[in-house]
Amino acid sequence: MPANNQVRETIQADYVIVGAGSAGCVLANRLSAGGARVLLLEAGPPDIHPLIHIPAGMMKLHRHPRLNWNFFAEPDPGVGGRAIHWPRGKVLGGTSSINGMLYVRGNPRDYDRWAQMGCAGWSYADVLPYFKKSESFAGAAAGKDALRGNDGEMAVENYRTVLPLTDRFVEAAQQAGIPFTPDYNGATQEGVGYSQNTRRGRFRASTARAFLAPARVRPNLRVETNVLACKLLFQGKTCTGVLLHRDGHYLIAKAARDVIVAAGAIGSPHLLQVSGIGDPAHLKSIGVDVLQASPNVGRNLSDHLASLVFHRIRDLTTVNDLVRGPRLVMEALRYVFKGRGAFTFGVTTALAFVKSREGLESPDIQLSFTPMSRDPKRHGFDELEHEAGATIAVCVVQPESRGSVLARSADPEEYPAIQANYLSAPRDIDVMLAGIRRAREIFAQPALAANSEGEIRPGSELTSAQALTDYVRTTVGSVFHPVGSCRMGADEASVVDPQLRVRGVGNLRVIDASIMPMVTTGNTNAPTIMIAEKGADLIKAATGV
Ligand SMILES: Cc1cc2nc3c(=O)[nH]c(=O)nc-3n(C[C@H](O)[C@H](O)[C@H](O)COP(=O)(O)OP(=O)(O)OC[C@H]3O[C@@H](n4cnc5c(N)ncnc54)[C@H](O)[C@@H]3O)c2cc1C
Repeated sequence: MPANNQVRETIQADYVIVGAGSAGCVLANRLSAGGARVLLLEAGPPDIHPLIHIPAGMMKLHRHPRLNWNFFAEPDPGVGGRAIHWPRGKVLGGTSSINGMLYVRGNPRDYDRWAQMGCAGWSYADVLPYFKKSESFAGAAAGKDALRGNDGEMAVENYRTVLPLTDRFVEAAQQAGIPFTPDYNGATQEGVGYSQNTRRGRFRASTARAFLAPARVRPNLRVETNVLACKLLFQGKTCTGVLLHRDGHYLIAKAARDVIVAAGAIGSPHLLQVSGIGDPAHLKSIGVDVLQASPNVGRNLSDHLASLVFHRIRDLTTVNDLVRGPRLVMEALRYVFKGRGAFTFGVTTALAFVKSREGLESPDIQLSFTPMSRDPKRHGFDELEHEAGATIAVCVVQPESRGSVLARSADPEEYPAIQANYLSAPRDIDVMLAGIRRAREIFAQPALAANSEGEIRPGSELTSAQALTDYVRTTVGSVFHPVGSCRMGADEASVVDPQLRVRGVGNLRVIDASIMPMVTTGNTNAPTIMIAEKGADLIKAATGV
């Protein structure tokens, strides 16, 4: 603890929320709605940078030095010894301010599995009302579908501009035997359909814009940016607040009711560990006194990986063509005057959810189509090829491999060690290869084949399982969906119980992507928002505020 003269201010609140990300902004809105005093703390700055709000700006946020934590996983033998980049938003809105904006709820079976694993209250029937509550869906089914929400804060929209190449993918997938699904967030996830985005008109809909901005007029909500939560404070085993650090001085945030850790799948287990909640052997090894033994803090980490299959394209427009020379100027003007075109694009324009084999209850592969291609020789997200290309990203959505996030020292400023253990489970490789074959089948269908000049990656000469495995291990990348590092469960070994209370201590909850016992079938922003919606209700039911 710092000396008294180093503590510049003590802030009192009913609820203190650490992290203004996808979950934190939702929590701040819901908990302050009833009049409770809420303090929201964020390590990053306010979200004023224009690249956050222009959808295509995401390309430049991927490695942004100030708005992104830019973690790296440890060198991993499963991916050829590479240290994979793990971007995470460090700004109001957190990762929802830098992500690809794809809105995917997951498969109903995901949540039914959570419930079967002991997480009472988290079946699909239980969580559906929270998905509906948070969204305002502007797709074809808007207002007509009992499974979709119409008056939530989060705008969910279809693409404003769809390139014909995307239509060709959707057609080709059907030619390959994958049925069309008009709404993969509605009655049927399995199949091929068009992407939905968290976007309001021409602008990104981060949780900071959707949930926090309208709540900031409330006098009982206080938001502090550029402030790092260093340590959770306890009286006995009751959490009473958080020690904060900003520009060389300290602040203390005191919570009359709960402290809610919403610092994400890396930040949340890290903060628990440096505060004395974790595996005793690990805590002792880094010089942290054990407050509560909880061996699974930071364990059970899983992530989604994707392998790319891409083709050279002729006679159809790709994004690669739109972002160069005069066409870029045209696209910029189109965006400014019409709010349409390449500047409104997020990460992917159409999706297929498929099964790697017969007999599975739900899809285990996500195929994400993008009418563009990246130069494999250049690093990063923002290096599109000069020639026209189209990509199917093959993602194993139910991975079995598990890793860990473990503090390297007692210093809260030092980044933790992320051991992903990618592709350590043999089944993950099998599913990936099945997905690559499926992607190749789609590219081979008439709707796409006529415009393809051939497969660039993996390269049609790579056909054997060994050659494709080598390709996967040496080129695969993260799609940035880490979850599970503060696993929810009914068992004593879980980090939080189904009410999201940290086991063994009082007045402390974790509410963010880290609590997922298993990752969902798809991207993780929508499920995280749902977790925060439900978490806020659990808190209000318990405290009456
Ligand atoms: C590049 C990228 C693209 C993605 N694309 C998509 C997509 O298209 N669709 C989708 O569904 N998902 C996508 N995701 C994943 C999705 O955005 C995340 O799963 C989700 O945002 C996680 O929400 P969270 O609340 O758990 O964490 P975050 O949103 O990361 O929030 C955590 C917040 O806590 C703050 N914080 C951390 N530690 C501290 C501390 N000690 N003190 C104070 N503040 C702290 C962080 O700065 C951050 O603001 C993407 C992720 C990335 C990185």
